[in-house]
Amino acid sequence: MPINIKDDDLETALKKLKVRENNFQILEKLNNLGSWEVDLKTHKSIWSKNSYLLYGYEPFSFEPTMDIFFMHLIPEDVERAKMKLQELIKSKEPGTFEGKMKLNSGKILDIVVNAQILYDENGEASKLIGTTQDVTQRVKNEKLLHESSLELKHQAHHDVLTELPNRALFKDRLERSILAHKRSQGKFALLFIDLDHFKDINDSLGHHIGDEVLKEASIRLKKSIRENDTLARLGGDEFTIILNDIKTVQSAEKVAKKIINKMHKPFSISTLHLHITASIGIAIYPDDATDENSLIKYADAAMYKAKENGRNSYMLYKRNMTASVYKRVILENSLRIAIKEEQFVVYFQPQYLGETDTLIGTEALVRWKHSELGLIPPNDFIPLAEDLNLIVEIDRIVMKKAIKQYARWYKAGFNPGKLSLNLSMKQLNEADFINYLLLILQRYKFDKNKLELEVTETQVMQNPELSIKKLQLISDLGIDIVMDDFGTGYSSLSYLKKLPLNKLKIDQSFVRDIPNDEDDMTITKTIIAMGKAFNLKLIAEGVETLEQKEFLLQNGCEAIQGYLYSKPIPPEEMTTLLETIKKT
Ligand code: C2E
Ligand code: CA
Ligand code: CA
Repeated sequence: MPINIKDDDLETALKKLKVRENNFQILEKLNNLGSWEVDLKTHKSIWSKNSYLLYGYEPFSFEPTMDIFFMHLIPEDVERAKMKLQELIKSKEPGTFEGKMKLNSGKILDIVVNAQILYDENGEASKLIGTTQDVTQRVKNEKLLHESSLELKHQAHHDVLTELPNRALFKDRLERSILAHKRSQGKFALLFIDLDHFKDINDSLGHHIGDEVLKEASIRLKKSIRENDTLARLGGDEFTIILNDIKTVQSAEKVAKKIINKMHKPFSISTLHLHITASIGIAIYPDDATDENSLIKYADAAMYKAKENGRNSYMLYKRNMTASVYKRVILENSLRIAIKEEQFVVYFQPQYLGETDTLIGTEALVRWKHSELGLIPPNDFIPLAEDLNLIVEIDRIVMKKAIKQYARWYKAGFNPGKLSLNLSMKQLNEADFINYLLLILQRYKFDKNKLELEVTETQVMQNPELSIKKLQLISDLGIDIVMDDFGTGYSSLSYLKKLPLNKLKIDQSFVRDIPNDEDDMTITKTIIAMGKAFNLKLIAEGVETLEQKEFLLQNGCEAIQGYLYSKPIPPEEMTTLLETIKKT
């Protein structure tokens, strides 16, 4: 709608002008901007309606000047704006200025000013025209975007739970350490740290407790290292540390010892006091390897060795270790097959009343009947089975086979006494365990009063409160509970009172050195006295000599198990023994 004074009458022209101004106002509003012009000689300005609104003023309530613009700029932007103005005058090009301005209300706006100089007929700068745009929202959005992209970057490289570097960042740092130490010809250590029995905590207490354990562990680990070392979480309960610039291997061992010590204090999480230990493997650059993958593999292998050696310890990598890790993988695979095919046989070791030599029961002990390797003793696969959580299935197979055999003996008129089954605490944490047990008892019509379950003191004491609860359920069914390997697991007297036990089994390590070791004899006597005080039955395992038996009987331990009477024997041999007993 062009305005043409020649053609239009004044009224029409004014109308058109009015419409155009309205449109212009709407456009300014839409774009959050106000337009203006300044007379460079008088500094007097003309503002659009939206310019006033932008500055927070009543439209057209005063005659503006350029000073009002400078007055509203925040102080740190004033100098820059003045310089920009000089530049603009000289360059004859349009220019842009970005800054902040403060309204009378105190509100701060981010603004973008676009301006251009107009020249008079003499070529002198006479006017400055332009727009001022409020871009506060846009700046805010951009800032948010920037922050979230930083955040994303952080997230891509860090573990959400512990805030530690993750596997990706760890690998990056490892690569850098290799480069740096190649240059400096120095040494660094790579530590692999794995919390012992962490899976049990997660399984039995829930992930929220597991998460707290990981967080606390990461804090303690962090405290064990220096600023320029890297601590990362690879996932699960696996942590790694890169100890840069170590002078000797001993410095790495020192840190490992420090970590083990730092873990000793119980982890207090909600109302629980958890005892957490860690196993650590160490590989050294460049002594053990100079490339990333080998260093990782070796530190991992050393960590496994530390676990095998009873956990709560560290191991330096040695050349033969990777072979044993390889063996472990093979063993794991064949163990899984063994479970599927139930390649297990149960041996029975008789237990006697020492006074009269009467058979009172047997302990069922598993053997793995391997097609090529022959009979594998439990110590060679039970620890691995515990680690892999395969123990639950193995124990169920043993339970089924042993109960079936016992039911047969009873049906045939023999009296093998009580059947004692070894049970991993993992089994008790399975929700369907009791049902499984009842099912098997029912299937073979086996009297539950003839059954007792052995749990090791070490496993019970890993989480005594939970153990008390789970064992109580079994005890309520009328099944006896025996505390196995007693004396090795630091039970406190208060727990001993609360646990629903029927019998203590004195660990063979105390029996072994009777009568040569005074300390072991004292401990054995103390255990017996303690058992009596709690009204528990007593049995000693690993009894090999008459002397040991006499000592135990004299001090009040009535039941005896060990090579003195019999090794663990296969079912057929046990049947023969039962036949002999029946005849006499
Ligand atoms: P444990 O429960 O302490 O079993 C006693 C171990 O001592 C058995 O070893 C037995 O053969 C051995 N032993 C018995 N009498 C004597 C003796 O007079 N002298 C000596 N030197 N040793 C004796 P085994 O059968 O090799 O079992 C080792 C461990 O494997 C068991 O220790 C138990 O912790 C575990 N285990 C065996 N069977 C099972 C099972 O079915 N389930 C679970 N969870 N663990 C089992
Ligand atoms: Ca046992
Ligand atoms: Ca034992």
